[in-house]
Amino acid sequence: MVERMLKFTNLPQKTPEKRAVSLRREDFAEIYKEFDTRGATDQASRCSQCGIPFCSVHCPLQNNIPDWLKLTAEGRLEEAYEISAATNTFPEICGRICPQDRLCEGNCVIEKGFSSVTIGAVERYITDTAFENGWVKPIRPSRERAESVCIIGAGPGGLAAAEALRQRGYQVHVYDRHDRVGGLMIYGIPGFKLEKEIVLRRTEWLIDGGVTFHLNNAVGETESFAALRARHDAVLIATGVYKAREIGGPGVGLPGIVPALDYLIASNRKGLGDNVPAFDDGSLNAAGKKVVVIGGGDTAMDCVRTAVRQGAASVTCLYRRDRANMPGSLREVANAEDEGVVFTWLSAPEAFLGDDHVRAVRAVRMHLGLQDASGRQSVEPIAGSSFNIEADLVIKALGFDPEDMPHAFGEPALKVSKWGTITVDHRHFMTSLPGVFAAGDIVRGASLVVWAIRDGRDAAASIHQHIQQRASVAQAAE
Ligand code: FAD
Ligand code: SF4
Ligand code: SF4
Repeated sequence: MVERMLKFTNLPQKTPEKRAVSLRREDFAEIYKEFDTRGATDQASRCSQCGIPFCSVHCPLQNNIPDWLKLTAEGRLEEAYEISAATNTFPEICGRICPQDRLCEGNCVIEKGFSSVTIGAVERYITDTAFENGWVKPIRPSRERAESVCIIGAGPGGLAAAEALRQRGYQVHVYDRHDRVGGLMIYGIPGFKLEKEIVLRRTEWLIDGGVTFHLNNAVGETESFAALRARHDAVLIATGVYKAREIGGPGVGLPGIVPALDYLIASNRKGLGDNVPAFDDGSLNAAGKKVVVIGGGDTAMDCVRTAVRQGAASVTCLYRRDRANMPGSLREVANAEDEGVVFTWLSAPEAFLGDDHVRAVRAVRMHLGLQDASGRQSVEPIAGSSFNIEADLVIKALGFDPEDMPHAFGEPALKVSKWGTITVDHRHFMTSLPGVFAAGDIVRGASLVVWAIRDGRDAAASIHQHIQQRASVAQAAE
């Protein structure tokens, strides 16, 4: 059915419609609408069915993109769903929040000259449609196994592993210190990028499939790591990275200067209907305030756009490099600008002014210097260029590092890198402790949901192999 494809020469690229700025500033609903059937079919039919699909090569999951695009263009959506779900545990989530411009779509061969196929939006459409039509089947292993696996961390890495191990019949126990499943997908990423119902729908699917969750359970505090290790046949650590990077400068301890994740968690909890005193008393709420967010990554973008929705009087993002050198997705910067955020590029905080509460940030202009060993340009302050920005809420979004995991788990033999990430054998995901594996941000450092899913799936395959090998050695010894 080749005639259904290769339409990129006469069909222009269309992304799903965005909600009007005036509406989306008022709520936390996703800003992109879903494709309708015609939109998805047309856009899928633009694919040129490349012999070497660079889109797949640059997708961390190596999704079979041309295949599910072709099936979508042909109206064979259930088959498209099956192929999409074979390589991705949460396609509807990746379709919404992957930085496609840097991954699949940024490497689509028709990008030059014709604009890429809108791969993410079609991927999301396929699985949302599958849920609506009851094609997403519950996890029902063909045989149950007696062996159990403990997963510490209910973020995308842990959940992808949980699904893959349950499919193989293992008894899967997921521990998380939070009261809800999803990790940063539930408490970090705001609803305007990923509505909470999408994550809750997957949580129910995992529970229905027999995954057991032990929530409000901080391993190393309420539960001992050694006890879990002794109780299960293998352990997967997928705890993410949460230690906020700090800024210095006079006045940095003033009230009104808050860490990004505290701010986002409060907002997400409020949206989920929780009682959040720090939101209600105004300390973690931007309503009516002049807000300055420091940082240029995805977290900073989520903070500025959350502040807009909470009714901030003004929102400024202060970043020490320029737009071209910022780590956050350019799509999200454009969305933030549309929503009224002011970006002050090439500027860094010097001091925080105020008596009993922050009242302003004193910033200094920066210029970009020579490239360092990593290829990034250095940044230097410009003498005498200081200026003040009024602020009554300052949000620090400078990135995250791992906690001290050997200490947190009371396990000095757990090897970590010089950055504090857990060291694994990259082929098998096993740590320095036999039978203990690790995946996701705690291995890579702050990364992406799609990479955590990839790691979780690969680690599950290695855990399966490890348990089976151990069983056959034990059998041979009998
Ligand atoms: P996490 O999602 O961090 O999950 C780890 C889980 O482990 C958490 O639930 C935590 O409570 C639990 N845990 C930690 N310690 C313990 C313990 N001792 N005992 C029990 N449980 C524990 N990525 C994208 O792809 N697209 C985006 O748009 C995007 N936006 C982001 C926005 C923000 C604000 C942030 C902070 C990150 C964003 N990311 C985004 C990155 C992405 O969320 C992470 O890369 C991904 O969630 C990592 O998955 P993970 O499973 O390794 O860890
Ligand atoms: Fe693109 Fe992410 Fe989907 Fe891969 S998982 S095809 S990178 S949107
Ligand atoms: Fe289709 Fe683009 Fe992938 Fe080629 S690179 S197969 S055109 S989506």
